[in-house]
Amino acid sequence: MDIRSQIGVVFHLDKCIGCHTCSIACKNVWTDRKGAEYMWWNNVETKPGTGYPTQWENQEEYKGGWEKKGNSIVLRGAGKLKGLKNIFHNPNLPTIDDYYEPWTYRYEDLFTAPEGNDQPTARPVSLITGEPIEVKSGPNWDDDLSGSPDYARKDPNFKNLSATEQEAMFQVEKMVMFYLPRICNHCLNPACVAACPSGAIYKRGEDGVVLINQNKCRAWRMCVTACPYKKTYFNWSTGKSEKCILCYPRLETGQAPACMHSCVGRIRYLGVLLYDADRIHEVASTEESQLVDWQRDMILDPNDPKVIEEAVKNGVHFSIIEAAQKSPVYRFVKEWKLALPLHPEYRTLPMLFYVPPLLPILGTTDDDIYDTTTEGLFSTIEKTRLPIQYLASLFTAGNEGKIREVLKKMMAVRLHRRHITVGDMDPVLVRNALQEVQTPPDMADAIYRLTSLANFEDRFVIPMAHREEAIEMLESVFEEKGATGFGFRMAPERGL
Ligand code: SF4
Ligand code: SF4
Repeated sequence: MDIRSQIGVVFHLDKCIGCHTCSIACKNVWTDRKGAEYMWWNNVETKPGTGYPTQWENQEEYKGGWEKKGNSIVLRGAGKLKGLKNIFHNPNLPTIDDYYEPWTYRYEDLFTAPEGNDQPTARPVSLITGEPIEVKSGPNWDDDLSGSPDYARKDPNFKNLSATEQEAMFQVEKMVMFYLPRICNHCLNPACVAACPSGAIYKRGEDGVVLINQNKCRAWRMCVTACPYKKTYFNWSTGKSEKCILCYPRLETGQAPACMHSCVGRIRYLGVLLYDADRIHEVASTEESQLVDWQRDMILDPNDPKVIEEAVKNGVHFSIIEAAQKSPVYRFVKEWKLALPLHPEYRTLPMLFYVPPLLPILGTTDDDIYDTTTEGLFSTIEKTRLPIQYLASLFTAGNEGKIREVLKKMMAVRLHRRHITVGDMDPVLVRNALQEVQTPPDMADAIYRLTSLANFEDRFVIPMAHREEAIEMLESVFEEKGATGFGFRMAPERGL
């Protein structure tokens, strides 16, 4: 066992109101610079939709992430060798049009235009060329356009839905949408790290944050192709790649990342996970149907004395183990099995997990009265406006059973709380609902509290920084173990 600690994150999608405060907080702190105007390290997409950059989930086009080859995995389109062949022409890179051409307005024209009969206007100008442009897209151009033919209908997650099922979703009275906020997942098996020919990207030993050494980056952009989530970006001004740094300077001083601190819906949770790094290759290479369970299995119980002993032996500081014991992320992901990784089939083992949206799910009987019996409510999960296959395509590599488990548990918690607060439910039905999803009432209450009433300290359990004890693993397991991109490095300022 090789026990390591990782900062994990959970986003609870039922709580996101799509206000984009997180994106603006991040932009103001990190990407309000020349060459970074088009970058949104944090972005919020409307789903169904095509996202940012457009169609980022279409790996036929972008060739991101890992694919299974026999008992192992290989980078789909950006291995160090494959990448070298494409040094001068990389056909799988998103173009600026796939993001959008950043622009501003010539506001000074409003004040300096000569006197005349017409109202002066501020024309849009490109932030890259300085020339006037016609604005045709923006970072969240498809915001709230759940039924639009150009965006929602082109969502790659519809691939397993029949034409009739898709058509049913786009009837006006059945339209549905939710928001999907995205940042770098600080993966355990990061494709970006494995693809970088310069060794500029590394995973910090003490907390698993994935960073790019700006002094070593040589502008190959293999990381942009390799990241299946398209969360590394190329700065056209500095000629270096950049990505979300999980606000590590804030974390090191005990503060939540800017996007999380500012989140209006309080959907974000951050905490430590302990995991067995020896299993990374095995888990990343397993069958698709097992990916969710195996990724969950490699996360270890921070209260288990054996785990604590091994973690301490491996250099994990006791204060980090204590933080892991209080981690809200551990509860959502492992204890309650409510949070799932986004597109586990990319095999990067993302460390950002999502509680999928329950969405409008109340079923009505024939006479338009809500059916509040447990059977009535549970059966509506199958009839939810957003098909289970769609959510399975996003969060479980197509495993619909896993989505049903999560939605049923969330529904059982709602029934239980309704029974307590409103009192119009049959107690036997509520008890049966909780039993069916193996959730005792005290667990249902804990889920409800952390979901709905959690204050700042409950949502963010940030361990003390121990830079002095950063776990060193020179070069990386990539070289020792062959296939995976997992690799720990010391931070650049400490010698690499
Ligand atoms: S591969 Fe994972 S760690 Fe690397 S940039 Fe993409 S999301 Fe982040
Ligand atoms: S700030 Fe929070 S609620 Fe608002 S869009 Fe971002 S994640 Fe959603």
